[in-house]
Amino acid sequence: MDFSLNEEQRAWQEKARKFAREEIAPISLKRDAIPDPRETFDWEIIKKGSKLGFRTAVVAREWGGHGIDFVTQAMVMAELAKGDSAIAKTFTQCWKWSHLIAAVCSESQKERFLKPFLADDTYVLGYGLTEPSAGSDNRLPPEEDLKAGLRLKGERRGDEWILNGDKVFIANGSVAKLFFLTVRTNPNAPLREGTTMFLVPNDTPGFRVGKVFNKSGWRFYQNAELIFSDARVPDDNRVGEIDGAFRRRGGDATGDALFGALELAANALGICDAALEEALALARTRRENGALLKDQQIVQLKLGRMQMLTEALRSLVLRAASEMDRQIPSENAGLAMNLATDVVQEVTELNLDLHDTVAPMDPLADKLLRDSIIWSHLAGDTVQRLKVARRIVG
Ligand SMILES: Cc1cc2nc3c(=O)[nH]c(=O)nc-3n(C[C@H](O)[C@H](O)[C@H](O)COP(=O)(O)OP(=O)(O)OC[C@H]3O[C@@H](n4cnc5c(N)ncnc54)[C@H](O)[C@@H]3O)c2cc1C
Repeated sequence: MDFSLNEEQRAWQEKARKFAREEIAPISLKRDAIPDPRETFDWEIIKKGSKLGFRTAVVAREWGGHGIDFVTQAMVMAELAKGDSAIAKTFTQCWKWSHLIAAVCSESQKERFLKPFLADDTYVLGYGLTEPSAGSDNRLPPEEDLKAGLRLKGERRGDEWILNGDKVFIANGSVAKLFFLTVRTNPNAPLREGTTMFLVPNDTPGFRVGKVFNKSGWRFYQNAELIFSDARVPDDNRVGEIDGAFRRRGGDATGDALFGALELAANALGICDAALEEALALARTRRENGALLKDQQIVQLKLGRMQMLTEALRSLVLRAASEMDRQIPSENAGLAMNLATDVVQEVTELNLDLHDTVAPMDPLADKLLRDSIIWSHLAGDTVQRLKVARRIVG
């Protein structure tokens, strides 16, 4: 398979590399060290990245976006994540949902939401699915309990919907201007037949942001609680049919399972590149008992393994992205996401291990490992692995 990049792909990769090196990396550890999770976010980096196109990269050119292909997306994500994987994810979370506006919303909704998104460097997007008692059950509804899953209630009143309930862990929750929201509109039907999707701006009456969750990794990323108390959403903001959120695009409410998988795999690749670079720099300069670390057999073996795992992940990421560009049906994006969990955690652990021999508590090695733990919750948890495995066995 030919993985050589064309001129445009290389230009995006280089632009992302420069931005990550010059703008993201210098603030990464400082933001990570801030104790209050509400304070870790930095609008300046979002505005700077937005002006370079990193917020609007996937919106089609006819709407004023950049319409970059999946191979470019994967390369850009990896480069940004090498600077800071949580800052990279804040940008790419907007890719997921701006793409969804373009793919499933009506023309008038695109006018009302895509245009302002494109025009405003601080217009960030989110998606609310998870609730205090419904996480995995939304992604893999248990067959024996048809009523399982999200309970946030939506009732029609004239031209409006009245929403009541809470969402939790919502990415970009405290900073987004617009959310896609999945709402139970028929409490007596199973999740896949009783759920409707809405577009909910952050100034919706009756809506407020609750707490911002404190995480050990991805500290820049704002995971918040969204609270709806008789919140009023116009029917004009309904996306698709009533009770039809899960009925389109392969039974996935967003239809973005492929992008989500590629995103997490490519982001992990950036962390691996950062860990490997840090470990090599240490090994080439640090002496122990008079000898450079790089001349010790055990260190060579560890560095060789880090490189092997990272390059294996890179190959699968590029292959999956290339197949997505060519619309070749494949499970490789899902496999790359699951592989990424194992690889990113082993590579960052090996990096910390190397640092521990000479310099315990190296802050970057520590951060990279903490960030990698997020993959156990999002990418390589049992449910994600089960979903990929079930698609493979058919
Ligand atoms: C950084 C981050 C960002 C997030 N962003 C968003 C967001 O933007 N929007 C949103 O809606 N949600 C978001 N989430 C929430 C995320 O989707 C949920 O955490 C996830 O669905 C798991 O749900 P849960 O935490 O309730 O865990 P649970 O559902 O309680 O699962 C706990 C563990 O049990 C396993 N498990 C559960 N059911 C089964 C089963 N049937 N068989 C085998 N194993 C099972 C799971 O794999 C997992 O390992 C985010 C979470 C994190 C950590």
